Amino acid sequence: MQQKYVYVFSASRTEGEASMKNLLGGKGANLAEMCRLGIVVPPGFTITTEACTEYTKKGKDYVLNLIKAEVEAGVTLLEREMGKTFGNDDDPLLLSVRSGARASMPGMMDTILNLGINDRAVEGLARKTGNERFAWDSYRRFVQMYGDVVMGLKPVSKEDHDPFEVIIDMLKDERGVTLDTDLDANDLRELVQRFKSLIRARLGRDFPTDPWEQLWGAVVAVFESWNNNRARVYRELNDIPESWGTAVNVQAMVFGNLGDSSATGVAFTRDAGTGEDLFNGEFLVNAQGEDVVAGIRTPQQITLEGSRRWAQLACVSEEERRKSYPSLEEIMPDVYHQLVEAETKLENHYKDMQDVEFTIQEGKLWMLQTRNGKRTGAAMVRIAMEMLEQEMIDEKTALLRVDPHRLDELLHPIFDSEAMSNALVLARGLPASPGASTGQIVFFAEDAEEWAKHGHAVILVRLETSPEDLRGMSVAKGILTARGGMTSHAAVVARGMGKCCVSGAGAIHVDYKNRTMTIDGQTWHQGDWISLNGSTGEVYDGQITTKNAELSGDFGTLMALADKYRRMEVRANADTPEEAVVAREFGATGIGLCRTEHMFFEGDRIRAVREMILADDEFGRRKALAKLLPMQRSDFEGIFREMHDLPVTIRLLDPPLHEFVPHDEASQQVMAQEMRVSLGKIKMRVEELEEFNPMMGHRGCRLGITYPEITEMQTRAIIEAALNIQAKGIVVKPEIMVPLIGTVREYNAQAAVIRRTAEMVFAERKDRVHYLVGTMIETPRAALIADSVGSQAEYFSFGTNDLTQLTLGFSRDDAGKFLPHYLKNGIYEKDPFQSIDQKGVGMLVQMAVQKGRSVRPDLELGVCGEHGGDPASVEFFHRSGLDYVSCSPFRVPIARLAATQAAIKDAPKKVELKQKPELEAVG
Ligand code: PEP
Ligand code: MG
Repeated sequence: MQQKYVYVFSASRTEGEASMKNLLGGKGANLAEMCRLGIVVPPGFTITTEACTEYTKKGKDYVLNLIKAEVEAGVTLLEREMGKTFGNDDDPLLLSVRSGARASMPGMMDTILNLGINDRAVEGLARKTGNERFAWDSYRRFVQMYGDVVMGLKPVSKEDHDPFEVIIDMLKDERGVTLDTDLDANDLRELVQRFKSLIRARLGRDFPTDPWEQLWGAVVAVFESWNNNRARVYRELNDIPESWGTAVNVQAMVFGNLGDSSATGVAFTRDAGTGEDLFNGEFLVNAQGEDVVAGIRTPQQITLEGSRRWAQLACVSEEERRKSYPSLEEIMPDVYHQLVEAETKLENHYKDMQDVEFTIQEGKLWMLQTRNGKRTGAAMVRIAMEMLEQEMIDEKTALLRVDPHRLDELLHPIFDSEAMSNALVLARGLPASPGASTGQIVFFAEDAEEWAKHGHAVILVRLETSPEDLRGMSVAKGILTARGGMTSHAAVVARGMGKCCVSGAGAIHVDYKNRTMTIDGQTWHQGDWISLNGSTGEVYDGQITTKNAELSGDFGTLMALADKYRRMEVRANADTPEEAVVAREFGATGIGLCRTEHMFFEGDRIRAVREMILADDEFGRRKALAKLLPMQRSDFEGIFREMHDLPVTIRLLDPPLHEFVPHDEASQQVMAQEMRVSLGKIKMRVEELEEFNPMMGHRGCRLGITYPEITEMQTRAIIEAALNIQAKGIVVKPEIMVPLIGTVREYNAQAAVIRRTAEMVFAERKDRVHYLVGTMIETPRAALIADSVGSQAEYFSFGTNDLTQLTLGFSRDDAGKFLPHYLKNGIYEKDPFQSIDQKGVGMLVQMAVQKGRSVRPDLELGVCGEHGGDPASVEFFHRSGLDYVSCSPFRVPIARLAATQAAIKDAPKKVELKQKPELEAVG
């Protein structure tokens, strides 16, 4: 049978359904599903993603030939359904052409409306509708959209405005009017002529008048847009493979701009910002397509409740609201009730929050799109928990609904309330995407990228954003726009990114040329500090201190539920009692890595450390270490106290000693004075410590082996602290960890020092404490001989940072020079220092798990590299049979949820794996 490339959907015949997203794209599949649900949708057809893939591979002529007959049959069906003819001069069928990929990519692809119109059909449309202005408005919009999207007429430089908008503004000036709606039919006719002249002048060819030529051009443009720059950036940011391609949806046009009983809008079945179970959205009367999201006119709210809330935020009186911005519920109650019925049906059907688009044509409601709505992290959690409570979904579904990455937003700082008491509100906009941010103003996305690259926190300030700004938006701390509603591009994208955004702050005047922002006569320049509260819509002057968020409410409920299904434990990497407190608050069930060297930098400890480094012999070193002992002991006491009843893994000194000495002469001079030694001596020692490759030099267990007195001091500090805290009736569970071993003898040498020292302390104190001695597996050799190591060590903790750099053979500190290039060119799919390289480094982990457990079935296994907080890696570690992951305190909730999701997805295999992990195939 010949391959099918076109699927129709209509009230009488529908070939697709929701499950066919891969083939029909999200939009196409959902349009088909809506038809099946009996929801009123303009009839149409979807050209499959496979056609797009063929286009990319074999080009235009080949593909158009492939789909021609099916597309023609599709158009015939639409003609029948709508009682109009495509290309007819008297009553033309007009079409919309939209892209629709498998995953929703808002604003990524281009839309063309009113296709099929030309100089003759526009007259027919005018006669048929009795509305000349409407007909010419539809025509000028079509020429504008087609000219931009298909023919490529864009602004010349970033400071330039859209060439079509420039022409519109010029005509408005000539006519002495300010609004587009003030232009009459003759003006719009004039605009069409001027647009066409511009196209002819700039491109040297005429605007196409043949409807079929228009249609094929539009279809090709959608295929092409799959590979445009902004689509590529979006794919990169969202891990969407290039191979998916986009579908093309061709649909009969319905018009929201046929007068005051027509409108167009977008709505969410629940609040996308907060998650509140409240139907909401925006619409514009007598408007078409993108007007609502374009942020040019102020949209009205759909519900009365929403409208009142909006008025309060926008400082609009109830009287003014009723007069100028009434809700749909008030002005078109019947249509409003139909819309509520449709949105309820859709949410109940999809069992998730829906983002819908609709058009009202002369009092008749048409649904144009439905999809699972993008939402903030907070909304994601609340919606999942409330849908669970409302028995719409079960516990496992609720847990799988929350993207662990997005919890990050809930864990981010909020404004410090004390700092807020002095904060000066400059302007108010809409609370488009919650959170707090503070940063320096930049006006262009490229500048945001450049400044962020140099470590600046930036706030991107724009009149409105567009998909070109995506990369800049992703690196900005916050986004502020002068125009646009809650569904403007800035708002939707910021929520998707979990980024703080205030939109539509109308008091702000942006001057791109001079790179300034003016509010009430006061001017801010690029580089000035401002702060945003995306939850209230307030814009503040200057930099405002922020503080950490808390785990409570729905978030707390989610995390408690997550623990019910989790197998792996989640510990934290914490070096101080304060971090231990945060770790516990976020639900860590132990400390998986305490990097003792971090304690060496505090206060005057660094002096004692430097004394030890400068010492000429063991005697001198012991003298300096004796000074460090009480300090380390008291740190450990603090940590043990905070982590009562839970295990605390403490790693012996790991970094090369040169990290503790200054390298510039001025600081060396200070050090010489402080230590009362000559500058020459300091210089000499610093030179001695210099290594060609310090990461592979004198570090890790090699330090403790060459200077066992360091290991002795640290062990003594740990054991004494444990005994002291235990004596207070608190349960302590110390686990002493040897870093960077490559041979069993290295491990044994250090373990012997540890055990001997511990026994000495026990004898002195006439008391004992239970403790474990184990090792990090962070060199490839340690992984390869993990069975021999496992016969000696009581636990393994995979140091995947070092294991990655040593396995891949590139330094984690120098990878910045080439890794971005590697990622861009697909040599590595993900940064291997962020997400574990499953096929390479992961193979070593799985091998070590198997070997270690083969000799010691109860061997405790964990991970303490950065990967412990990365959801994809956590899932891998779960599958590999590890007992725990350890990550920074702020990532603990993310890891907890990721571990839960891994357990839910992998339920039947979990017990099996712990005993006999299977090795993944190498690729
Ligand atoms: C590791 O190598 O994964 C690790 C946790 O140790 P560090 O990052 O301190 O080298
Ligand atoms: Mg390491």
